[in-house]
Amino acid sequence: MALFYGYRPYFDPTYILIIIGVVLSLLASAKVKTTYAKYSNVRSMSGLTGAQAAERILHNAGIYDVSVQRISGQLTDHYDPKNKVLRLSDSVYANTSVAAIGVAAHECGHAIQHHKEYAPLRIRTALVPVANFGATLSWPLILIGVLLSWSQPLITLGIVLFCAAVLFQLVTLPVEFNASNRAVKILASNGMLADREVAQTKKVLGAAALTYVAAAAASILQLLRLIILFGGNRDRD
Ligand SMILES: [Zn+2]
Repeated sequence: MALFYGYRPYFDPTYILIIIGVVLSLLASAKVKTTYAKYSNVRSMSGLTGAQAAERILHNAGIYDVSVQRISGQLTDHYDPKNKVLRLSDSVYANTSVAAIGVAAHECGHAIQHHKEYAPLRIRTALVPVANFGATLSWPLILIGVLLSWSQPLITLGIVLFCAAVLFQLVTLPVEFNASNRAVKILASNGMLADREVAQTKKVLGAAALTYVAAAAASILQLLRLIILFGGNRDRD
């Protein structure tokens, strides 16, 4: 990238911000994988599969229009608000582990948020197209701005668009934490998991939450780098 903003190619020291973000994301991802692997070997006392637990939780919450489906891949579990489908990965759907029930309950947490019109989820959903637009167009705009003999308005617009992507990552945090809180509360109160198992589920969901924190931190670091490189009027030689 050095060539784009200076006349001499040299190591860009702000690149360290990107590296920190990547390292944080890798650490979080390793943590969630090892934690999940550990507790996916702990069979729950109830013997319920992830899918059975999900259906029970949804029905207890008065939700009957959300279907539970199986999806391939690992940790691909998600709730699709558009089609009202809760998709559980292979290792969750038919698995009776504490980890599987925890992940299934977390996704139910999202379905309940949707059902109850939880504000942060609505904001997050509304931000999806804006964030995609921002993430796609920010760098091209900045580069065009730089190539047009440093057009600061264009560059600033690129940075502002990038902010939309950062905002999306930030709004994701309360949505994810809230879904996990709901999951833990439900599992602790409905007898699906024993107390010890609830504590284990908390560890799995806590590790999963770290990946969102790392992603948000990484995007803030990227924004910081953009501001350092392109934020002010050009005063370099
Ligand atoms: Zn989630």
